[in-house]
Parts: sequence; structure tokens; C-alpha cells
Amino acid sequence: MAIDLNLKCQVEGCAKIYYCKGYCRMHYERVRYHGNTDRLKAERGTGYSQYGYNVVMINGISKPRHVLVAEKALGKELPKGVVVHHIDENRSNNDPRNLVVCPDRGYHQILHKRMRAYEAYGNANYLKCYCCGKYDAPENIVVSGTSKSGGSNHPECKKRRDREYHLRKKLERDGRAPTIRHILEMNKE
Ligand SMILES: [Zn+2]
Ligand SMILES: [Zn+2]
Ligand SMILES: [Zn+2]
Repeated sequence: MAIDLNLKCQVEGCAKIYYCKGYCRMHYERVRYHGNTDRLKAERGTGYSQYGYNVVMINGISKPRHVLVAEKALGKELPKGVVVHHIDENRSNNDPRNLVVCPDRGYHQILHKRMRAYEAYGNANYLKCYCCGKYDAPENIVVSGTSKSGGSNHPECKKRRDREYHLRKKLERDGRAPTIRHILEMNKE
């Protein structure tokens, strides 16, 4: 893809290199993590991590503020492995009502998956087919183990992908390039 050198950050007076969605990298990340392009002003004794989290220093130890807020609400330190999720995805909104304490990373990932499904299809139960990339009703999708071992797919998409995979392997073994016949075979419904 050609790079358009005329693209500029849409923030007035910003001369930084274009990055994504109309912004330079800095402004893009501010919008992504905080919802607007305003400069983040850290309070005394605090700062921002590279991921846009407000970090607080206490007795020489730094902790993300959302973790501190969650710990305060729970009245104890968060157990290891626990992830704190921002409901509105704005990482500087550390209002306790905006935070969900997830027992582990897997739970947090499911939360994000459901949010994506809801955004895309208005239904949090919809699942993504990792072959064709489309979302569909759960009854049309087969979930098989972890995302590494296939995740969720349309059965017909998975069949096609498996067929393609085996055919490619076979060709590789034989040291041959795929012919048109092979390609047709791979795309067969
Ligand atoms: Zn900018
Ligand atoms: Zn999250
Ligand atoms: Zn599919």
C-alpha cells in the first residue's frame, strides 16, 4: 500500500508524523486510551505509563491508580493474576463504577471479546469466526479449545482451512507449487 505523505495529524498546530485514524501516534493513543486529545496532566507524585495508565508512587513503589482504586474498594490487596478492566475503555477514568475486577487474563479477554461482538452486532453473545473474521450467532459457530488450537470458527470455514492446510503441507512435502486445480480444490465449499 502506498503511503500518503500529505496526511497530517488533525490536531491543530500538531506537526508530528501521521500515525492512524487522523492522528499522530501521541494524539492517537490519547484518544484511544483517554477519549480525547487533551494533554494528560499528572498530579504531583504521579505519572503516566506508556500504556496510558495513571501511575502513583507510594513509598518508592509505583502502582497503577486503577489497581489502587480497586484495592481500596475491596479493602485488600488484589491477588496475583487479577486484571482490572475499564468499562468505558478510558484508562484515565478510574471511578470505581468504571472498574471491573477480573479473576484472570482469560476472563478479561472474554470481556473484551463480548464488547467487540456487541459493538459489531449489537449482541454480546455473537462469536467471531477466526477463519473468515466475521461474527455470527453462537449456534453457527463451533468453539474448539483455545484460540491457538483453532478457537471459534464456522464449521465450513474450518473445514476449508484444514483442507488448505493439508494440501499445502502435501505440496511442500512433494516440493511442488499449487496448480489451479489445487487452488480450486482448496476453495471448494
Ligand atoms: Zn498530533
Ligand atoms: Zn479491559
Ligand atoms: Zn467463517
